[in-house]
Amino acid sequence: MASDPIIQLKNVSFAYEQGEEVAPEAAVKAVDGVSFDVERGSFVAIVGSNGSGKSTLAKHFNALLIPTEGEVLVDGMNTAEVAETAPWEIRQKVGMVFQNPDNQLVSSIVEDDVAFGPENIGIEPAEIRRRVDESLKLVGMYEHRKKGPHLLSGGQKQRIAIAGVIAMDPECVVFDEPTAMLDPKGRKEIMSIIRTLHSQGRTVILITHFMEEAAEADRIIIMHNGKVEADATPAEIFSRKDLGVLEQPFAVRLAKRLRESGIEVPADIVTDVQLAEYLCKLK
Ligand code: ADP
Repeated sequence: MASDPIIQLKNVSFAYEQGEEVAPEAAVKAVDGVSFDVERGSFVAIVGSNGSGKSTLAKHFNALLIPTEGEVLVDGMNTAEVAETAPWEIRQKVGMVFQNPDNQLVSSIVEDDVAFGPENIGIEPAEIRRRVDESLKLVGMYEHRKKGPHLLSGGQKQRIAIAGVIAMDPECVVFDEPTAMLDPKGRKEIMSIIRTLHSQGRTVILITHFMEEAAEADRIIIMHNGKVEADATPAEIFSRKDLGVLEQPFAVRLAKRLRESGIEVPADIVTDVQLAEYLCKLK
């Protein structure tokens, strides 16, 4: 298949300013010489310990940060150039959902919040109405459209924040630990939305420390000290012994136990659903 990247990182480094007394070459790099492409329509998970540079990297995907070295191309546009002239062009293509929904909601009524982005870029009112309704239905929050966000649970607020991003109709959505503050039910709902967005053909980039979530991606990138430590399919990542810091997903651990008991489970089974489907076929 010919490659069709929506995002290209070319030797990207980023150092936060450390004060005037630190020479640029001595500044600590939060992201250090990272290169990879994200294929259009793919689902990529980014994992790694706290402070490994995941969030800093994610902010480069929609020009919230511009590399100190190297370059980021979004649909062929160099973020360093476009951020000066037309940052909305990039923000429309790549939406971001952060960990804490309270920092992402701006209005006192749910549907106004979802309309905020499209209004800001001058979309026609009828089209805004259509997008707001469709986005709220997609995240299962349509019946709450007239409510105040402060009346909602954390998971519901996160779904509203996601609806606000979808209302911009981005080709790619970047999720930076979207489920970290949620209970298991809230986490499941967000993952279900992520699956729907991917099945619609959107590119999804998910930063997470839940390996069950990462296992659902087409590809997992592991960050360590600002660098890419590994970049492979979930099955390859979870079978590598040298990446022992990662906790394997439940399905991978169970598949291993089943193999030890003589049931030949294929190596590419990494999620609960895949394992259940495989075992049912054995009956
Ligand atoms: P992760 O998302 O993997 O936890 P981050 O990208 O948040 O990693 O952080 C990478 C490194 O950059 C860490 O050493 C962190 O302390 C540093 N860092 C992150 N944000 C800032 C900031 N706003 N100012 C200075 N340093 C920061």
